[in-house]
Amino acid sequence: MRKLAFGYSTRCNIKCEHCVAAEDIPDCRKMDHNTAKEIIVEMAQAGVGGISFSAGEPFLYFNEIAELVKLCKQVGIYTRIVTNCYWAKTAKDSENLVSELKENGLCQLRLSYSRWHQKNVNRNNVLNAAHSCQKNGLDYFISFITDFSIEDDPYEQFLRDEGLKFFPEPVIYAGRAASFKRRNILTDYQENCCEMNPYLTPDLDMYACCDAGSHFSETNFFRLGNLTDNSVEQLFTQTETDPLYRFIRTKGVTNIASFTGMKAREIITYSKCELCRKMFNSPETLTRLRAEVSQLAAWSR
Ligand code: SF4
Ligand code: SF4
Repeated sequence: MRKLAFGYSTRCNIKCEHCVAAEDIPDCRKMDHNTAKEIIVEMAQAGVGGISFSAGEPFLYFNEIAELVKLCKQVGIYTRIVTNCYWAKTAKDSENLVSELKENGLCQLRLSYSRWHQKNVNRNNVLNAAHSCQKNGLDYFISFITDFSIEDDPYEQFLRDEGLKFFPEPVIYAGRAASFKRRNILTDYQENCCEMNPYLTPDLDMYACCDAGSHFSETNFFRLGNLTDNSVEQLFTQTETDPLYRFIRTKGVTNIASFTGMKAREIITYSKCELCRKMFNSPETLTRLRAEVSQLAAWSR
């Protein structure tokens, strides 16, 4: 099923130190509301079955997002909103907004939580939002962003004590987090395949990767094009047929790194997105991989 991260606006009311938003990108861009509606209809026609409203903080444009959720429901698209929960200060505030979204057909709320988010948003807001979801029968989960350091233990314990559904997610060392000290990790020698859902910006640029991939500034490897010059169908077809994107999905970035000559001992010191950046944000490595795509295709067990 085709899925997409829909960046209606890059505006956020807080400024987390770990945010993948790059400092050099203006943080107040917003999509025209009617354009967004037209794109959603076009997406449904192109077989997009799931949209995640993410990027900045979607609740800053609550009425507009609620309307877009309703439209998605009408055209048969599954919807998720990713939020920092600033709006859930009280159980009542939270209840009002969550029940409206549920009525409009929202399928899932993803609540962001971390020691960086919680410098600006009280953790009880996350609790209120989760409780409202439970009360309204709205699927939710908490995305617990962590660098796996001991500092995060009390944050994890809070979620456990409250019996909330959460999934740890590693910090992506891009954007503001690019300046963080790299963890000294030794991972398993795992494939690191990546689903790669595209990301649409408020300026209608579409990228093949919704996370760190829109910030590969040396190569622009993941940029697919702009929806003013291309149809949704064309850009999705591009992401589905590009051989290197396909290899990221099927072979995984670890196997590609090994193909380029990286030592196994070095590969296991990188997290998935860092390894991806090391190869695909390097003009030399990318040129080589493009030239050797058939050899890479044959690089299998
Ligand atoms: S991580 Fe999320 S909540 Fe924090 S600044 Fe970035 S968009 Fe806003
Ligand atoms: S591994 Fe690459 S394609 Fe996958 S999320 Fe990270 S940057 Fe994007």
